[in-house]
Amino acid sequence: MLGFFALPKRSRGTRRIVLRTSAKVNLALEVLGKRDDGYHEIATVMQAVDLCDRLTVETADTVSLVVTDLALPTDDGNLIVRAAAMLGEAAGATKGARITLDKHIPVAAGLGGGSSDAAATLWALNRLWGLRWSRDRLAALAVRLGMDVPFFLGTGRALATGRGEQLEPLPGAGAYALVLVNPNFPLSTREVYGRVPAGWTAEARSTRRMVEALRTRSARTVAGALANNLESIVEPMVPVIRHMKSALLAAGALGAVMSGSGPTVFGIARSYDHARQIRSRVNRAGWSCWAVRTVSGRVIRAV
Ligand code: ATP
Repeated sequence: MLGFFALPKRSRGTRRIVLRTSAKVNLALEVLGKRDDGYHEIATVMQAVDLCDRLTVETADTVSLVVTDLALPTDDGNLIVRAAAMLGEAAGATKGARITLDKHIPVAAGLGGGSSDAAATLWALNRLWGLRWSRDRLAALAVRLGMDVPFFLGTGRALATGRGEQLEPLPGAGAYALVLVNPNFPLSTREVYGRVPAGWTAEARSTRRMVEALRTRSARTVAGALANNLESIVEPMVPVIRHMKSALLAAGALGAVMSGSGPTVFGIARSYDHARQIRSRVNRAGWSCWAVRTVSGRVIRAV
């Protein structure tokens, strides 16, 4: 009896979802040209890796956000708050949520951390609020938050075309160990795309080559197919990109390339142990390094 009365009333009604949501790298990325709508046409192979943010989402009357990275906004400058507001409005939800973000994915790093958090928020609130929206319906909303966001609602590897929102899952086909290196400063995606010269055209050859390379399941073949045509724009602005790639190759990586619009670069290793060896060889003051594995199942996982 005493135990029953000691139980706080609110905790009986409180539900809590804890989940991990991954960063991505681009195994191949090609900007093909500028579209009339102002976006760039791209072709890319996106791959989730197990460097994750952790999101805790609990029932509450209103939406609020707490973040461990104090540099990040907690108002609607944060994609999490925007995702919650957008879903709440679209679903006519009357409930709120207390959301806590434990941030591990570096910000503005070319690793899609904000998009991953936004997708995880949609996923968690769909459950917490009992909406029962399908993944396709969530993805249609997700694209309004950012072209990368729908990818994170799916499984670990996909070919993305159009503005990056047209997804074709690339299931199975091997797991890989990578080393990520970030120079501890952010780079704006908008600024990098803004520097793509007028009249820029490219074909999606390297992206097609990567899709073929993945079929071999050979880390060496995949490493040989790594490509990112934004490197030619970013490397002159940010010379450390070349240094980080050289350091990865000198430490034994099978191949190395910039992820997204940078500044993170990554290398492919023969195995996870090899990735850890490379990480300790490359690790130096001023850089952050991680040995990670590719994610082949769902990108968002309940803890
Ligand atoms: P992409 O490769 O998709 O462009 P990115 O890894 O380069 O992503 P993000 O880490 O997603 O970049 O952050 C881009 C911007 O979004 C930053 O300026 C940041 O302030 C803002 N932002 C808003 N919400 C978040 C969030 N939850 N996590 C990280 N950044 C966020």
